[in-house]
Amino acid sequence: MSWEDNVRKVVPYTPGEQPKVKNIIKINTNENPYPPAPAVQEALRTMDVDQFRKYPDPTCDVLVTALSDFYKVDKEKIFVGVGSDDVLAMAFLTFFNSDKPVLFPDITYSFYDVWADLYRIPYRQIPLMDDFSVKIDDYFVPNGGIILANPNAPTGAQLPIDAVEEVIKNNPDVVVIVDEAYADFGGQSVLPLIDKYDNLLVVQTFSKSRSMAGMRVGYAFGCKKIIKYLLDAKFSFNSYTMNMPALELGALAVKDRAYFEKTVSMIINTRERVKKQLIELGFEFADSKTNFIFARHKEKSGKEIFDFLRANNILVRRWDAPRISDYLRISIGTDEEMDILISKLKEFLNK
Ligand code: PMP
Repeated sequence: MSWEDNVRKVVPYTPGEQPKVKNIIKINTNENPYPPAPAVQEALRTMDVDQFRKYPDPTCDVLVTALSDFYKVDKEKIFVGVGSDDVLAMAFLTFFNSDKPVLFPDITYSFYDVWADLYRIPYRQIPLMDDFSVKIDDYFVPNGGIILANPNAPTGAQLPIDAVEEVIKNNPDVVVIVDEAYADFGGQSVLPLIDKYDNLLVVQTFSKSRSMAGMRVGYAFGCKKIIKYLLDAKFSFNSYTMNMPALELGALAVKDRAYFEKTVSMIINTRERVKKQLIELGFEFADSKTNFIFARHKEKSGKEIFDFLRANNILVRRWDAPRISDYLRISIGTDEEMDILISKLKEFLNK
């Protein structure tokens, strides 16, 4: 018998590579290519570091208030955390506590099975259809909870919100988490449904559409009861999840609606242009409503293209996993970055 027998062992999630070198086109982790709102930069420059002596506000009020004003949602229906990973990890811990399996697609955010393993939550991964769509009937079976990323990652495909509502409505005995990390890029949000269904938790993030992946800010909406349960778990785990700069700067980022809308629409425009160019080059993909495109080439393998791009200082993401090993997930960068990507792909394909 060794202490190692009692270790809570888990195979961790593998985050996308964060290369140290500078001269690389980094379109592998769905980061936003534009800087955060101007007020964020200004506030950071003038921030009073003497405040760091004190603990941050455990209720995160400045950030919750800014989100409440932006989304017109009561403060009691909002939860914030250290990126949506922290919000999701806390939600798994709080709501997925049944002997029945939690359900999620086989191809989705690859952190879900890791949290389930970590907490010893039983789960079942339900295969997506061949076109990467979700067959909602698969979710009308006894279960211990459901999580759907919508739009899904890494596929980029959006499940119509009527279908998401069917899943929520047909599973009143469990919590349904809808991970909307990418919903700002032209997808539809189920946020309005939080007042209709008390078993719904909607999770979003500042990492993509608000250009703040490095600051680690995520949030969730739900009915007052569901948020109270989440807060009870959080305050039983770590009172001070969010640091003072993340709270202050996050609030400033939310307040600049015009900048948010401008940068999101720039990314959507670039994405739509790149879709057409990729199709011309022989790629195919499910239509993306996100800041990335999950594409495979009709003739070349995913690995070949990945390696060529890598050798040319362009980093995309690829998983050596069943069903998706020929796909590349290409984040939408600036127009200049995407032009270089397309010209390198043309070079590789002799076009
Ligand atoms: N959900 C999905 C579907 C994601 O792709 C990501 C990004 N890796 C996250 C949640 C977590 O993002 P963050 O913790 O930066 O908010």
